[in-house]
Amino acid sequence: MYTVFFIGTAGSGKSSLVASLSTWMEDQGYDIGIVNLDPAAEYLPYVPDIDIRDRISARKIMKQYKLGPNASIIAAVDMVVTEAERIKEEMEVVGAPIYLIDTPGQMELFAFRQSGAYLVQKLSDVHSLVVYVADAVYIQTIDGFATTMLLALSSRIRFKKPQILVVNKADLLTEDAISNIINWAEDPETLLESIDLPNYEKEILRSVANMGGFITPLFVSAKTGEGLDKLYYQLQVHYTGGEDAQ
Ligand code: GDP
Ligand code: MG
Repeated sequence: MYTVFFIGTAGSGKSSLVASLSTWMEDQGYDIGIVNLDPAAEYLPYVPDIDIRDRISARKIMKQYKLGPNASIIAAVDMVVTEAERIKEEMEVVGAPIYLIDTPGQMELFAFRQSGAYLVQKLSDVHSLVVYVADAVYIQTIDGFATTMLLALSSRIRFKKPQILVVNKADLLTEDAISNIINWAEDPETLLESIDLPNYEKEILRSVANMGGFITPLFVSAKTGEGLDKLYYQLQVHYTGGEDAQ
């Protein structure tokens, strides 16, 4: 069993990417499973094989405990932990060789509370991977690029899993914006020269960049389907070293 977790800031397109990648893979004849771990999702653009909302719903928690929307989402995400064992069992019953796992809309609830790392650990088999989904519109600015790299690094520290960095919504980027991003990743000095930062913060950023912390992303679009073949290829490389996953 190969589990692929989709992590990223709210609205970056995790759910959309799970939908389009799963459709793309199914069209290629691959057998895949989808798990939704977002108890607050109002709408999902795919049909999950396993859906946490069958067990835990942020909406119900809101009514039952008379919590506000934010507090009920936090409580719901924390409660997902109690279902980890059962989700794992269901995944074994469904028996898909690859699972795409969608995570709660707001990344900090999953990445920066206890529950997320536990769930990733619990639902990972021998092979597992995190796809960090960044938003194209945000990453095209200098500050957006720098902070995205630091967030992706934070999530690597948090999950301790191999990670692929994906820029979703590439359909919204011009060729120039794409080449800027690639340039900043491959030649961090070009970014460090123009970023507006006090010296101390700039030096920290320089250390991160020089240690390989700026990663060249893969550009994809859940909307148009561009780059999905490359993303699948990267998933395969992590799984088998290049050979087909099934
Ligand atoms: P999530 O919170 O990370 O799960 O994000 P969603 O998948 O719900 O997507 C958030 C919004 O971004 C939705 O309105 C999507 O239609 C939109 N979106 C997602 N992927 C793309 C994409 O590749 N291109 C464009 N233009 N919009 C996208
Ligand atoms: Mg979502």
